[in-house]
Amino acid sequence: MKTILSLVTLLFSTLIIGQNTYLHCGKLLDTQNGKVLETKTIIVSGDKILAIEDGYKQPNSSEDIVIDLKNKAVMPGFIDMHVHLEMETNPQKYLEGFILNDADVAYNTLDYAKRTLLAGFTTVRDLGGSGINVSLRNAINSGKVEGPRIFTAEKALATTGGHADPTNGVKDELKGDPGPKDGVVNSIDDAKKAVRQRYKNGADLIKITATGGVLSVAKSGQNPQFTVEEIKAICETAKDYGFHVAAHAHGDEGMQRAVLGGVKTIEHGTLMSAETMQLMIEHDAYLVPTITAGKSVTDKAKIPGYYPDVVVGKALDIGPKIQETFGRAYKKGVGIAFGTDAGVFLHGENAKEFGYMVEAGMPELKALQSATITNAKILKMENEIGQLEAGFLADIIATNDNPLENIKTTENVVFVMKSGKIYKK
Ligand SMILES: [Zn+2]
Repeated sequence: MKTILSLVTLLFSTLIIGQNTYLHCGKLLDTQNGKVLETKTIIVSGDKILAIEDGYKQPNSSEDIVIDLKNKAVMPGFIDMHVHLEMETNPQKYLEGFILNDADVAYNTLDYAKRTLLAGFTTVRDLGGSGINVSLRNAINSGKVEGPRIFTAEKALATTGGHADPTNGVKDELKGDPGPKDGVVNSIDDAKKAVRQRYKNGADLIKITATGGVLSVAKSGQNPQFTVEEIKAICETAKDYGFHVAAHAHGDEGMQRAVLGGVKTIEHGTLMSAETMQLMIEHDAYLVPTITAGKSVTDKAKIPGYYPDVVVGKALDIGPKIQETFGRAYKKGVGIAFGTDAGVFLHGENAKEFGYMVEAGMPELKALQSATITNAKILKMENEIGQLEAGFLADIIATNDNPLENIKTTENVVFVMKSGKIYKK
């Protein structure tokens, strides 16, 4: 009966849509069960997976196309929970705020977005820019430009002088007095207004900077920067709009307040105590490790003049600690949501994170599940992405080797399909 039904669907979709794609997969990674299946055909119709069948099936219409991935390992497209598509590290970065127009930034994003997609990352969370990230998401969704599916926080929320205060570190006459509209919050009322403004501006989720950060021109990289009441007001208001909240945090106190306030993910988590790890488990909050960013800022801080002096000390202090904390959090049972902070390092190098996760003690399969099924669940997309199953969106990538045996192979993705469209082969 099942076969007849799938035959009927197949025939129907061929008649309606015209062209189907048959992917002949030598190895296929089942992210749900952690098994590698051999000799399978994925039939893609429109933007979805129509069926996955045993053996190498040949199409019954001359319009259909066959893609040979017999010598490849095929898996669902990766999801990175922490990127910044409006920027990319370079020694001039601190000048860019004064010399780049929005249009310049927008053109830059095209390259960053494309590199991300071609590296096998078919979905990302953009955790903060100016709002150009919303336009980029819309342009990608409408097929005008190439890039990953984006869930964007638009502009991150901070307190005055906090990590994401847009006028940090500039001379007095340029400081102004940014408020909720610009993402700066100093009360419960501000918190509500700032979240509602993000909704108005087209955000998909909320990002806050719960503690100091490394790259802002400010003294501390770890002080708490919101009260727990402010964070609660943000999270409660966010809920009204179906948003979850991501919190940047290096210091332990700010991290605890963020978890108690109701955030879903802690970004970086550098100085996380065992107590906070326990709190995260109890509150079903996830750690987004960003080990790659930690390593990158540590390296860059050693290049004279690359960062302002106030940043160098913070980078050398915080950067090297991220990987070790991740290892401890994973072993303690904290949920891990794959994320890199790409932009702090070069876009397209996101998959380096897998190797660092494995190096810190996470098995290959767990790391891959974190970048697929776990992240899909946090994005409430668990029935659409993160697995290769009939009815799911056809976000499909391939590598030369089996990533369960050689995790570094993820750094060289050789085939990329997003929503049924091929971008690399
Ligand atoms: Zn970030």
